[in-house]
Amino acid sequence: MIGALLERAIPRLLLDELEALERVRLVVKRRPDLEDLARGILPTQPAAFWGADGRGEVLLFTDVLVRGPFALKRVELALRHELRHALGEDEGEVLRHGLDLRPLESLEREPGEVSALELEAINEEWTRCW
Ligand SMILES: [Zn+2]
Repeated sequence: MIGALLERAIPRLLLDELEALERVRLVVKRRPDLEDLARGILPTQPAAFWGADGRGEVLLFTDVLVRGPFALKRVELALRHELRHALGEDEGEVLRHGLDLRPLESLEREPGEVSALELEAINEEWTRCW
């Protein structure tokens, strides 16, 4: 399902975002895994960019993103947000493009509420590269 959403979201990217996409690795996971949590990504985060100088990874977390009737809009928003970071923009600059991810974050639990058992389960979940 995420593949079909990405196929529709990618043609909607701006030209510089498309160029950024060619330089990064796009990784789709259900949720942040242990490695992601260790590098400061929150369990409720919908997406992240990890890298520097336009190189690195854009991570999309489907448990948060692919939800409800606006899944395409959510995937597009998250992808564009992280690609703008890959282009070197800080949070303020990204928000000026109207790409606020905060409404997408899960309100079901606070970061830090994840138990050790749950962390283990997260770690064992499948991960795939797009
Ligand atoms: Zn951001």
